[in-house]
Amino acid sequence: MPNVSSEIGTIVTGKPATYIGRFAPSPTGPLHFGSLLAAVASYLEARTRDGQWLLRVEDIDPPREQPGATDLILNALERYGFEWGGEVSYQSGSRDAHAAAVTRLLDAGLAYPCNCSRRDLANAPHGPLGRIYPGTCRAGCDADEFAIRVRTENEPIAFEDQLQGRQVQQLEVESGDFIILRRDGLIAYQLAVVVDDHLQGITDIVRGIDLLDSTPRQLWLQQLLGYARPNYMHLPVAINERGQKLSKSHGAGAISLERPQETLVVALEVLGQQPPSELVDGTIPDIWLWAKERWRIDVLRGIAEIPVGHIALARAENRLS
Ligand code: GLU
Repeated sequence: MPNVSSEIGTIVTGKPATYIGRFAPSPTGPLHFGSLLAAVASYLEARTRDGQWLLRVEDIDPPREQPGATDLILNALERYGFEWGGEVSYQSGSRDAHAAAVTRLLDAGLAYPCNCSRRDLANAPHGPLGRIYPGTCRAGCDADEFAIRVRTENEPIAFEDQLQGRQVQQLEVESGDFIILRRDGLIAYQLAVVVDDHLQGITDIVRGIDLLDSTPRQLWLQQLLGYARPNYMHLPVAINERGQKLSKSHGAGAISLERPQETLVVALEVLGQQPPSELVDGTIPDIWLWAKERWRIDVLRGIAEIPVGHIALARAENRLS
């Protein structure tokens, strides 16, 4: 059924809604090459669609954070010439909105307290998303300390990913009711990301494929909270020659701040954009100019992994020469 309000919007403004994209790093360490790829792709998508690109630091999990990481990330993004719209936002700043969303779900009977411990769930079946919550506390639980879970259903939740195609999950059997507020009082990523994307009016989410299977849980929360659904594009993950994801846990180093041109050109190469080798001799603005004119995300369609050879990685991390 056509959405009446958006039709009216189109008639009044005569143009489609503005594109608002974002990059949302967690300050768990400095920016490494894998996260640079997500930053570059989301930035170029926003820029080539005359959109805005917002920067949001996802600082809601202090135990996982590394002191100084936010500054390192912001510094690196600046050095690489990224230009974001407005001020950097911090997810910790929307704690009240997160709490209000949890309260709304509780009040509507769509969420409930759960005091199951890991041990209690030791025999619960395991699925691709982790342990499948068997619904133990659905009928109520009595405890001083508890997490909050959102109710799920088995209605298939489907969406069309702009790169990875159609995705479907049945949450009740594939994840079970999932946590939106942790027992330690911290908000869960799934809820925080949905609330903040909504508050910031994000229309398009471009991020790594490691979050593809979180998306149906986020769509479910958007549906329950009555939020608009953004478009999704999940980028292939860069893997090293041993087939490991380029991430901090597999020793991916911080991207170098010495010669960002070289690293940026390798990032464009890895993203399938075929930059000419002499581009490394240009300035950062020259490289962005070239990239904005040539950007084609289509080359990544249907690709889940991009192998990055050790030479490219060494160039990206400025370890050659
Ligand atoms: N903060 C998340 C991360 O660094 C990304 C969240 C998202 O893009 O939805 O992995």
